[in-house]
Amino acid sequence: MDIQKLVRPNIRSLSAYKAKEIPCKVKLDANESPYGFKELLNKTRTVQTNRYPDPEAKALKELIARHSGVKPENILQGNGSDELIYYLITTFGGPILYPTPTFSMYGIITQALGEKRIEISLDKEFDLYVKSMLEAIRREKPRLIFLSSPNNPTGNCFSSDRILKIIDVTSSPVIRHPSLVVVDEAYQPFSSKKGLLPLLKDYKNLVIMRTLSKIGLAGLRVGFLIADKEIINEVNKVRLPFNLNSLSQAIAVEALKDKKTLQSHINAIVSEREILFNEMEKIGGMQPYPSEANFILFKVNNPDRVYKSLLRKGVLVRNMKGVVDGCLRVTIGTPAENKVFLNTFKKVIKSNR
Ligand code: PMP
Repeated sequence: MDIQKLVRPNIRSLSAYKAKEIPCKVKLDANESPYGFKELLNKTRTVQTNRYPDPEAKALKELIARHSGVKPENILQGNGSDELIYYLITTFGGPILYPTPTFSMYGIITQALGEKRIEISLDKEFDLYVKSMLEAIRREKPRLIFLSSPNNPTGNCFSSDRILKIIDVTSSPVIRHPSLVVVDEAYQPFSSKKGLLPLLKDYKNLVIMRTLSKIGLAGLRVGFLIADKEIINEVNKVRLPFNLNSLSQAIAVEALKDKKTLQSHINAIVSEREILFNEMEKIGGMQPYPSEANFILFKVNNPDRVYKSLLRKGVLVRNMKGVVDGCLRVTIGTPAENKVFLNTFKKVIKSNR
């Protein structure tokens, strides 16, 4: 029996997101935080495993709302922000426009849902190429635009005036086909630049997407949208009723209450990022790109060889082949992990010359 004949054509040509586990000693490939919240598992004793979770995630949304200066009705919870990308595209449909290189799930989910993808290259500085984007917006009339800022995998924030221009043009009352602009702030906690929360009140077409995955809770799968109530209500129609399990809700609430610990982990990652960047700049024969996130993209000669040599020595980074050719991406770990990476990397680069 030919199962392939039964598969929808857009799925047949799709490749699954590569998230396989590769054995290693130092895992710096997935932009996770090296700091977790294991002790919070003790706080889940009151969770009733025989009952469904709170379908509205009320406690979590109230806390996020308070921290963000919005109302709970402006928030939608997701099983990670990946799920929210799915929900957004399911709700509004395509075409979907995003700059490249960027987070691969925008394209994968667009294709899975059979919608049209419009990819516009970033400029040489990895910033938004506004002219091409505006042309594509006029020509293709996208319903959704995804902007990851800080951007994965390049690490930079897009210039705020360029983001603003895109939001402004697509919200203008004279435009016949407005678009929603989803600013994916997954890495915002590590950035020196302000996020776009303050703009929400001025732009109805702005959606902010956040996740707890990069700040210590990747295993719990908690993401959320912050947007106008009408947008939230529409996306909520396609949300599976119990998408966020009870344990994740309970632990996320406790972690978010502990602002001090969260901030100290973020500070540690940011200061390690600066140390690592400076050390990498000294090495020569390779180029690290400045980062506002919890990872550093870098260009090397023979990236495949460097990737494999690092892995053979137990250090796992991400090979960006096919995304940003010639580049690898390393996540910021603990000071000890970063030291192992740096020392191993120096040896590998020396033998690569
Ligand atoms: N957006 C960006 C830009 C990301 O890099 C990632 C994770 N790699 C996500 C969203 C997805 O995060 P989550 O774990 O919340 O699904």
